[in-house]
Amino acid sequence: MNCPGPGVMAACLDGALTPAEGARLGLHLRACARCRKALEELAFLLALEPLDPGRASLRAAKALIPQAGATPPRFPDGQRLPSPALLH
Ligand SMILES: [Zn+2]
Repeated sequence: MNCPGPGVMAACLDGALTPAEGARLGLHLRACARCRKALEELAFLLALEPLDPGRASLRAAKALIPQAGATPPRFPDGQRLPSPALLH
């Protein structure tokens, strides 16, 4: 199984993934408990920091984390925010 790297997780939490990338990550998260845990931990860490507008999609990213018995994860269409801090 090809696990997305930490950069993909961070981009997801920053809303920097394309809808297609978000959907792919969502599918992977449903199948991979390790990445689910990693994203949850990353989201938790980010949630401890004051949210800025660039992190407004944190809730959307959390929606990607599947819960037992929940509806399939969805990612908002066309959401693509710049995340200069994560691009270097
Ligand atoms: Zn994985």
